[in-house]
Amino acid sequence: MKAQSANTTIPSDEKASQNDFIRQIIADDVKANKHDGQVVTRFPPEPNGYLHIGHAKSICLNFGIATEQPGRHCYLRFDDTNPSKEDMEYVESIQTDVRWLGYDWGDRLRHSSDYFEQLHEYAIALIKMGKAYVCSLTSEQIKDYRGTLREPGKNSPYRERAVAENLALFERMKAGEFGEGEQVLRAKIDMASPNLNMRDPVIYRIKHLPHQMTGDKWCIYPMYDFTHCLSDAIEGITHSLCTLEFEDHRPLYDWILDTLETPCHPQQIEFARLSLNYTVMSKRKLQELVENNHVSGWDDPRMPSLSGMRRRGYTPESIRDFCDRIGITRKNTQIEMGVLENCIRSDLETKTARVMAVLKPLRVVIDNYPKDQVEQLEAPYHPTDPNFGSRQLPFSRVLYIEQDDFREVAPKKFFRLAPGREVRLRYGYFITCQDVLKDKNGDVAELRCTYDPETRGGATPPDGRKVKGTLHWVSATHAITAEVRLYDRLFNQAEPGADGSDFKTALNPNSIETISDAKLEPSLAQATDRYQFERLGYFCVDNVESSPEALVFNRIVTLRDSWAKIEKANV
Ligand code: ATP
Ligand code: MG
Repeated sequence: MKAQSANTTIPSDEKASQNDFIRQIIADDVKANKHDGQVVTRFPPEPNGYLHIGHAKSICLNFGIATEQPGRHCYLRFDDTNPSKEDMEYVESIQTDVRWLGYDWGDRLRHSSDYFEQLHEYAIALIKMGKAYVCSLTSEQIKDYRGTLREPGKNSPYRERAVAENLALFERMKAGEFGEGEQVLRAKIDMASPNLNMRDPVIYRIKHLPHQMTGDKWCIYPMYDFTHCLSDAIEGITHSLCTLEFEDHRPLYDWILDTLETPCHPQQIEFARLSLNYTVMSKRKLQELVENNHVSGWDDPRMPSLSGMRRRGYTPESIRDFCDRIGITRKNTQIEMGVLENCIRSDLETKTARVMAVLKPLRVVIDNYPKDQVEQLEAPYHPTDPNFGSRQLPFSRVLYIEQDDFREVAPKKFFRLAPGREVRLRYGYFITCQDVLKDKNGDVAELRCTYDPETRGGATPPDGRKVKGTLHWVSATHAITAEVRLYDRLFNQAEPGADGSDFKTALNPNSIETISDAKLEPSLAQATDRYQFERLGYFCVDNVESSPEALVFNRIVTLRDSWAKIEKANV
């Protein structure tokens, strides 16, 4: 069977397929020799959770731009300024996920904490310029003094502290002489600014917490807005790409870099966040699902986390294709889950072998088939691509078909099996249902059928007889039993929590269906990969709970977008 590619490099035909407004700005800047014609980007996750598909949009943008032309670079920078929420587990998972998506930061792995020393010096420089002061208001008071969108703020009584006093107090903050919240360092900008971010923002705070990278060295930590622009400048980032909610922070970003006269001044450009319907996309909410056991972990196959999607069976190619298809704009929109699902379908269509599995088995006995006979029937793994090769399918007297493929009373347009009806078994024979056996509850327990020996391999018989239905099947004695997990949307509202309710009330109680005794064709005994189960969808061996003795499969996606049809029917 053709091996599935384990691509870690992006094929060249996938590159430069985009020409969004950010790439246009960059092309113009290069042409004008701005930043000496350099292009350096960064992806700056906070290591306080696992990455999700929204982050993939940012990764594909930042790393994508860097891989499109030689000489460009992208940093992976951990924005680790809040030790209370951060963890090495996240630092490691983020690297795994970025690599899995197909990107490589080379020797450009950084942490904001690498710059704590420099950032501290920059803070002292601001104090010396009279542009920062130590404020002794409580956080409540700071909020009160801040004013509102309609009313200007009030100056802090500590705003006019002398430089020497500020320097001494800041030094004492660093030395651990104050408790958390007792003092903060604030930039001295404008308490009447219409932009709240410019009303003397806090740039350093006290936290008596060890940091995963710097240990006990610091008990003051720089705030995001102060750290981010300076880290960008230190690394020589040319284009600092972030999501729209940072637009209001851009004046502060620019103020800090202009005031401190940093050697370079990156350009912040904002784009719309990715929102997908029927899921949530915030680390805090995903964390809540994990902590409250609504899912089995960050890598639960229903999660929009990259580790969950990987476990579900999504390929990195399909996620990159998705990011490509949705593009980069400045307009916030909800993307339909169907778009993502189409990306994985079209990727797997040409990449996966097609095999047969029966999820809900119904026993079929072929009465005119010799009792102990077993035939090996040749079956290609792919209908059009001979590179996949073929396998031998055992055919014998007792088979399983899908319960759904039989109706005692067949409705109109039901072309599958019914009493007296003839169908084709794919790569097998034509069979006709002669009798239906029931259990003591009156449920169908077994079908007695006959086969036509002249239809071997599923061929049309000499009399030219046609059948309308072709079913998948497995030989009962040869089949292997496996667990198969079918997934549905994690939420049953398009925008969980958007109406102000707790987003968790929108959880779909039927988002997972576990089938413990699915019957699979024997070639799957050594399964390790993704497959199309004929007529059922694309499936993937679960990379956490499956073992050769007890196979577990996840359904990645159905073959068609049945959800779109259901939704249409509901309007
Ligand atoms: P979350 O709300 O999920 O915690 P975040 O923005 O706080 O997300 P960060 O770790 O700070 O998470 O994000 C790293 C980068 O990924 C940032 O540049 C951020 O703008 C980007 N990013 C995060 N979520 C999305 C999204 N939904 N769409 C596009 N980019 C995103
Ligand atoms: Mg964040």
